[in-house]
Amino acid sequence: MAYQQFDQVPNHYAGPTIQRVKDYRLKNGKRSLCPTLLQIGQLQVLIPRHFGFCFGVERAIHMAFSAVKENPDRNAYLVSEIIHNPLVNNDLKKQGVRFIYDSEGDRQVSEEELSSDDIALIPAFGTTMQIEDSLRQSGIDIESEEYRTNYDTTCPFVSKVWKRGEELGRQGYTIIIHGKYNHEETQATHSHTEEHTKTLVVLDAAEAEKVAAYITGEMTLADFECVFAGKSSEGFDPQKDLERVAVVNQTTMLAEETQEVAAILRRAMRQRYGAENLDYHCADTNDTLCYATHQNQNATRSLLSSDADLALVVGGYNSSNTSHLVELCLQSMPSFLIANSDEILSDQRIRHFDVHAKEIVESEDWLPRPLPVRLIITSGASCPDILMNQVLEKVAGLYGYSAQEIDDASLQLFEESP
Ligand code: SF4
Repeated sequence: MAYQQFDQVPNHYAGPTIQRVKDYRLKNGKRSLCPTLLQIGQLQVLIPRHFGFCFGVERAIHMAFSAVKENPDRNAYLVSEIIHNPLVNNDLKKQGVRFIYDSEGDRQVSEEELSSDDIALIPAFGTTMQIEDSLRQSGIDIESEEYRTNYDTTCPFVSKVWKRGEELGRQGYTIIIHGKYNHEETQATHSHTEEHTKTLVVLDAAEAEKVAAYITGEMTLADFECVFAGKSSEGFDPQKDLERVAVVNQTTMLAEETQEVAAILRRAMRQRYGAENLDYHCADTNDTLCYATHQNQNATRSLLSSDADLALVVGGYNSSNTSHLVELCLQSMPSFLIANSDEILSDQRIRHFDVHAKEIVESEDWLPRPLPVRLIITSGASCPDILMNQVLEKVAGLYGYSAQEIDDASLQLFEESP
């Protein structure tokens, strides 16, 4: 049965075929990372072992819908999108929930409009200290047990990063956040950790190499300041603040890249201060990586050698973890990020989000032919299963398969296939 643990997640987020795959995996190969093969006539659809809603997202949705249901007489607000998925955000809007900030970060509901009687939900990726202060100004008691338990949906794995950042800050480490500077979670982590220590945000391994070059004396202060302008806490002094560092991440970044960022900085510290002083200059923060992101990325990686003709990744266009799944798939096959089945315009045209150009584009001749064809369909951590299910149905329909034939599809573990 779907959504036993978080029973306020709307049932219409489940998809019948995707649920069949999940139920099958509960009984078969639960611990294996191999994908599930759905055989619809001559069409093979591979579904990875892990996809869709992670624990933190499902919990946030459950808490948001519970809050609305249990408080019909109170105004309900969301600080910003609860997760990066339009269907879920629109469903909450339909229940009367208003957004304090829109997706551009512009304030829509003033401090004065909110009162202590209102509910103001904090999203799964948390929020900044500044926004927390603003909620306090409006009279909302965000420190109360009731608030923390029912209305602050910040994922425990995000809070864990903040707590670890605080601990390491107290120990004298500067926090290096591997993340996208403007992403809400990175902004929140940045704001929470800069309370305790200096922080710097690096986007990727290439930027980490620049930090390493500064540490080892191969980059000048002026060049460093030019590259990282506006990406550090106030008063950040690279000469002093890059003596001891600890790497944490925006939990939806590629976990392997976070490990690479940490390895690059460790190498630089070893070069500058010697191997015997390494732990003093570079903290081990492997324990802050989110297991769900890691699982989804590993399950996607296990699809790359499947010899599939195409991958369709379903999710919101501003969803960081979903973009990373697309980047992984693109290493091995043509891959499209689509928000939902409406983006499949015909068997000739598809509208999709180009993760490199960061824009919505249309492509032609996208559907592999002739049959037999092998496709991958997966989804990001903020995508309801129903959207993935609708994509599957639409694609199978383009090959001429009926709803009945999809229902009759056989399932097996892909490693067992001939
Ligand atoms: S990806 Fe991880 S940290 Fe982010 S909401 Fe999901 S479980 Fe929490």
